[in-house]
Amino acid sequence: SQDDQKAEIQEFKLEADQELRFEVESKTEKVYLSLKAGLAEVFGTEIVKGKLYEFTAGAKIAVFTWHGCTLEIRGKTDVIYVAKETPMVVYSNCHAALEYMRHEAEKDNNKGPTTMIVGPCDVGKSTVCRILLNYAVREGRRPIYVDLDVGQGNISIPGTIGALLIERPASIDEGFAQEAPLVYNFGHKAPEKNSALLSILTTQLASNIKDKLEVNKKARTSGVIINTCGWVKGEGYKQILNNTKVFEVDVILVLDQERLYNELVRDIPNFVKVVFLQKSGGVVERSKSVRSEARDQRIREYFYGTVKNSLYPHSFDMKWSELKIYRIGAPALPDSCLPLGMKAKDHMTKLVLLTPNSGLLHHLMAVSFCEEEEEDILKTHVAGFVCVTNIDSERQTLTLLSPQPKPLPNTILVLSDLQFMDSH
Ligand code: ATP
Repeated sequence: SQDDQKAEIQEFKLEADQELRFEVESKTEKVYLSLKAGLAEVFGTEIVKGKLYEFTAGAKIAVFTWHGCTLEIRGKTDVIYVAKETPMVVYSNCHAALEYMRHEAEKDNNKGPTTMIVGPCDVGKSTVCRILLNYAVREGRRPIYVDLDVGQGNISIPGTIGALLIERPASIDEGFAQEAPLVYNFGHKAPEKNSALLSILTTQLASNIKDKLEVNKKARTSGVIINTCGWVKGEGYKQILNNTKVFEVDVILVLDQERLYNELVRDIPNFVKVVFLQKSGGVVERSKSVRSEARDQRIREYFYGTVKNSLYPHSFDMKWSELKIYRIGAPALPDSCLPLGMKAKDHMTKLVLLTPNSGLLHHLMAVSFCEEEEEDILKTHVAGFVCVTNIDSERQTLTLLSPQPKPLPNTILVLSDLQFMDSH
C-alpha cells in the first residue's frame, strides 16, 4: 500500500569520502535510488541528480561521494549502512598512475598500460576493473576490457572469455554496453575443468587484441584492463603467470592476498609493476547458490534482456543433418591406454563430432565463426549462443532458442557444459 511505500523512504546525508552500501535480496522487492543534492558515483559511474535508478534481487551496491551528497532510497533493502572507510582514494591513485602511463604512451604513440587485477574469490576484482574503466573513459580514454573470469562472465555469458572496447561509462543498473564483444567459448564454469583449453583460448584472445590495438590508436594508448578469476593456487597461479606473458601485462594489481602478492613479486620479471591493494570492506561474499543464481540470471538476460531492455529471442527447428555439433575434449583415458606419444592432456583439446542425442537437452551451444578448417574451430571466436530446448529423435530435429532468427550465422556449433532451463 501507499503507506508502506512511504514508510520505506529513507534519506542519507553522506560526507566526503563516504559510501552508502546496500543489498537487495528479495525477489519481489525493488529498490530505487536517487541523488537529491551533491555529487555521487556508483563504482565509478556518476549518478544523474533527480534520476531514479532501479535495483532488483541480487544487487549489492555502493554509492560513493568525493564531496558529500544527499541520497534517497525507496523500497526494502536487506542491508543498508554508511561506511566511512573505503579504499576509493587508493583506487583513484591507481587510476592516476595509469593515466600518467597513458600520457607517456601518447607521446611516442606507444601502447598504454595493460593492467591485470588478480586475487582470490570475493575481493572485488570485477568492481575494481569497473571503477578503473569508468575513470578512464570519463577522461576520454577508450580502454579495452578483458574478462578471463569464466565463472561469472561479465562479457557475454558464463563459460566464456572475452573483450570489449569501452566507449562510455557502465550503466549503473546494467553494467557496460555489450556492443560487438569478442568472445571465445570455453564451455565450463570452472577454469580447472580444462586448463589446456583455457591457455589456448587466452593466448588466442591476447593475439587478437594485439592486432586490434595496432589499428586503433585511441585504444592502444588507453591500454587494457584484465579481470581474472579467483583461482590463484597451483595451476591457477600458472595461468596468472601465463596471462602476464601473453597479454604483455605492465601492471598487476593484487587484491587482498599478501601471499599471492609475494609470490608474484618473486616470480614476475622486474619490469612488471606488482602492486598490493586492500579490498573494500563492502565486498559481499557470495555463496555457491548465489553464484549459480547469478549465472542463470546472466544467461536469461542474454536471451530475454533486462526489465529495462527486453529482448525477444526466436525459437526454431533445425534438422540434425543441417548442423555440425562438436564437443571439445574426448573422455579422459589413462596415459597407458593412449597411442604412443599422446598425452591425456592432448585429449582435452580434441575436437569430437557429436550425433545429436537427448544429452544435449537444455545445453548451450556456441555458434562458431569458423568457416573452413576443422582444426580452427577450437581457436575461433564465436558469434553467440543458442540453447537446445527440445530434441525430436523421430523427426531428427533440434529446437533452438536463439537471439537471432533463422538462419544461424553458421552451422558449426560447439557444445557448452552450461545449461539453461527456459521457463518462458
Ligand atoms: P569473483 O570471486 O566472482 O571473481 P570479485 O572478486 O570479482 O568476485 P566483485 O564481483 O567485484 O568480486 O564483488 C562481489 C560483490 O560485492 C558484487 O556483487 C559487488 O557489487 C559487491 N561490492 C563490491 N564492492 C562493494 C562495496 N564497496 N560495497 C558494497 N558492495 C560491493
